[in-house]
Amino acid sequence: MSLSTPKVGFVSLGCPKASSDAERILTQLRAEGYEISGSYEGSDLVVVNTCGFIDSAVEESLDAIGEALNKNGKVIVTGCLGAKSGVVQAAHPSVLAVTGPHALEEVMSAVHENLPRPHDPYTDLVPPQGVRLTPKHYAYLKISEGCNHRCSFCIIPSMRGDLVSRPIGEVLNEAENLVNAGVSELLVISQDTSAYGVDMKYRSGFWNGRPIKTRMTELVKALGELGIWVRLHYVYPYPHVDEVIPLMADGLVLPYLDVPFQHASPRILKAMKRPASSENNLARIKAWREICPDIAIRSTFIAGFPGETEDDFKQLLDFLDEAQLDRVGCFAYSAVDGAAANSLPDQVPEEIKQERLARFMEVQEAISAAKLNQKIGRVETVLVDEVDGDQAVARTMADAPEIDGVVYLVDAEGLQVGDLVEVQITDADGHDLWAGPPQF
Ligand code: SF4
Repeated sequence: MSLSTPKVGFVSLGCPKASSDAERILTQLRAEGYEISGSYEGSDLVVVNTCGFIDSAVEESLDAIGEALNKNGKVIVTGCLGAKSGVVQAAHPSVLAVTGPHALEEVMSAVHENLPRPHDPYTDLVPPQGVRLTPKHYAYLKISEGCNHRCSFCIIPSMRGDLVSRPIGEVLNEAENLVNAGVSELLVISQDTSAYGVDMKYRSGFWNGRPIKTRMTELVKALGELGIWVRLHYVYPYPHVDEVIPLMADGLVLPYLDVPFQHASPRILKAMKRPASSENNLARIKAWREICPDIAIRSTFIAGFPGETEDDFKQLLDFLDEAQLDRVGCFAYSAVDGAAANSLPDQVPEEIKQERLARFMEVQEAISAAKLNQKIGRVETVLVDEVDGDQAVARTMADAPEIDGVVYLVDAEGLQVGDLVEVQITDADGHDLWAGPPQF
């Protein structure tokens, strides 16, 4: 081991669960090339894994932190005492970071922040933002895996399990690395973005030494500080989602919400076992538009779900008429192997599914065309996706890559992929827009 190898001291208190957390952290430290030091003086920093079960354990943990601070000075605290809000910081305000138990990623990101990881000729060939399949100017930011819902047409929970949120510090570090690598737009994805942090009981994580709750609103606020486009996908219409709409009105994140409603008939939503199925979605959409008139709402729907009657389907068309959604996708229901909906009674015949899908698309196309027509003459900020000579393809804030429409730009000399520019909309069809330089 070279003299310059960074050394971490480790103090572990508490029960076998705490020891197992300690083993994971120590394993990761060693895997990344850190040396584990047996003395305070010989360490570049010290991690103290605490217990907070009873008063005497709290005292012992606080003493251990104090001793590490006295003898070394650079201390990261993890473990159960860290989960007790503010206790560690009140006794020892100079600690570098505090996490709760089972917080491998958060501890490692605090270590990386305060003691850069040793050079590794293999992993250092990989850029900090990782290897990406998307173009350089936008990237998907996955905030969780799995899902706690059990929609009857979906098999994702049986394949990927219940919701597991990524630690907020890790998500925000990844976002920061992407921005530093030149990304202009982050697309937040998960199976249920509105549920972010539920599995962690919204406990606080750390980003740049600052505590932040593992919760959608707090995540969105922090992402909004990065100064790029942030787009939210797969958000269910729960009441707490209302909290992010003012952030959109203030320009912190894009005024865009991807809410997969799937249907409008309460009977069908119940059969689908959809999250937030009892919410009054029309009232919610109206309230969102009052706060943020420019909000673009995208959604997806299923036509011909088992048991759907003509009356249910008409409720769906009426919902479309009233909701005036900006971007909409619709699929004819098709059975997925292993999905609970396969065994529901009253499966809809294929020709009726297709006929309903066509009627749905006709209604929505008229709505989309009218909405896009209203944009003609407006000056919009767009993000350039492709450039070919004096032509370019871009997107407005209302359009996510791959799934929504585009803006075809003329007189686009000098533009580069990833540029954010103002253009004036000159034409529209039912899906896309055309634009040129603003004519002031
Ligand atoms: S469709 Fe339902 S069960 Fe499937 S991932 Fe989405 S919310 Fe979860």
